[in-house]
Amino acid sequence: MSSDHLPEHPDFLWRNPEPKSSYDAVIVGGGGHGLATAYFLAKNHGMTNIAILEKGWLAGGNMARNTTIIRSNYLWDESAAIYEHALKLWEVLPEELEYDFLFSQRGVMNLAHTLGDVRESVRRVGANQLNGVDAEWLDPQQVKKLCPILNISDNIRYPVMGATYQPRAGIAKHDHVAWAFARKCDELGVDIIQNCEVTGFVKDGNRVVGVKTNRGTINTEKVGLAAAGHSSVLAEMAGFRLPIQSHPLQALVSELHEPVHPTVVMSNHVHVYVSQAHKGELVMGAGVDSYNGYGQRGSFHVIEEQMAAAVELFPIFARAHVLRTWGGIVDTTMDASPIVGLTPVENMFVNCGWGTGGFKGTPAAGLTFAHTIATGAPHKLNKPFALERFETGALIDEHGAAAVAH
Ligand SMILES: Cc1cc2nc3c(=O)[nH]c(=O)nc-3n(C[C@H](O)[C@H](O)[C@H](O)COP(=O)(O)OP(=O)(O)OC[C@H]3O[C@@H](n4cnc5c(N)ncnc54)[C@H](O)[C@@H]3O)c2cc1C
Repeated sequence: MSSDHLPEHPDFLWRNPEPKSSYDAVIVGGGGHGLATAYFLAKNHGMTNIAILEKGWLAGGNMARNTTIIRSNYLWDESAAIYEHALKLWEVLPEELEYDFLFSQRGVMNLAHTLGDVRESVRRVGANQLNGVDAEWLDPQQVKKLCPILNISDNIRYPVMGATYQPRAGIAKHDHVAWAFARKCDELGVDIIQNCEVTGFVKDGNRVVGVKTNRGTINTEKVGLAAAGHSSVLAEMAGFRLPIQSHPLQALVSELHEPVHPTVVMSNHVHVYVSQAHKGELVMGAGVDSYNGYGQRGSFHVIEEQMAAAVELFPIFARAHVLRTWGGIVDTTMDASPIVGLTPVENMFVNCGWGTGGFKGTPAAGLTFAHTIATGAPHKLNKPFALERFETGALIDEHGAAAVAH
């Protein structure tokens, strides 16, 4: 269904309802994960008396600030399972949501620049293949064939020694994804309430029974937290701690160009990742700023270093101009894997820790989180991603695959 041109929007997207005094479930956060969760709660579990509460505007957080890379080539079985499930859902969602969000499976390359990179990458390709994830190892000539503007000379700081390649990976238009979910949620009866900030929780003993907002108190039987960079702030309001660090993560776009960049290229070592959006902008992401913060902006030196790296790998970018830079707040965990599951508070559930790479996980996060909220128990795909792993030590370390950012 996806096409190359920007599709027309439908005339109607969603209602702007006033909050009701009570709901069967409340989702905190109107980003992609909150929207996808509400959609699957309504569609798979028949829960339609639910609300999404968003403190700002729909998708004004990381959802419409990310660089839209979608792939599933993670190392460990648990991660491959959830990210590959997400990729399979991405492949059918445009039809299901009846909205063309320009999912373009143009492939993603992860470059290797050192012997260590090569070893880790080849190992990951093997692991991916065993898990049924499409993955290939490319030598520098094959890399050049797929992306002719890439500099594979030996004469640069970090020569390209090869790359992993996932052909089914790609990009999608993030704001359209949000609108697609929002429109379907609305159609199914979900209330999407913008400008409604959750400021606290009402508890009966250890059980959550309501949320306090800047628009009044709302009673509810269940609360799902899907607040990305603000997850630990909300957890603190509810009386528990999350092992999350919130960091700024930046990205930028150039002015529009003719098509020059046919795939997606990521370099963890050189710290840059690049694709070309449907309209023609070169979209580039940087690494995280190392300090913790909640401002949706980062430091200039991070962008400066990232541009230097980009020009080294893609010399023709030296003639391009930066049009816009921006930042989001990413919620990182110590094992670079998400947390989706129960919390110490009864009837309160959490989906967070997707860090620099949660856009790709959006459909699977929604599906599994909805299952967890509806049934009170994890889906088999999110079971390994429980909060308890930080107590048991059963970490799922994806720093190699998540790397620079994504
Ligand atoms: C620059 C950048 C590039 C990225 N690139 C990629 C990429 O290429 N691929 C990829 O897979 N991932 C990427 N990511 C990560 C991805 O964007 C996130 O992991 C994902 O969007 C998080 O889920 P979300 O969409 O629900 O978050 P968000 O859109 O941030 O949603 C959370 C929402 O909660 C709301 N909220 C917070 N507190 C409250 C409150 N008290 N009351 C009510 N609402 C509240 C916020 O306003 C926000 O709208 C990137 C992130 C950034 C910042």
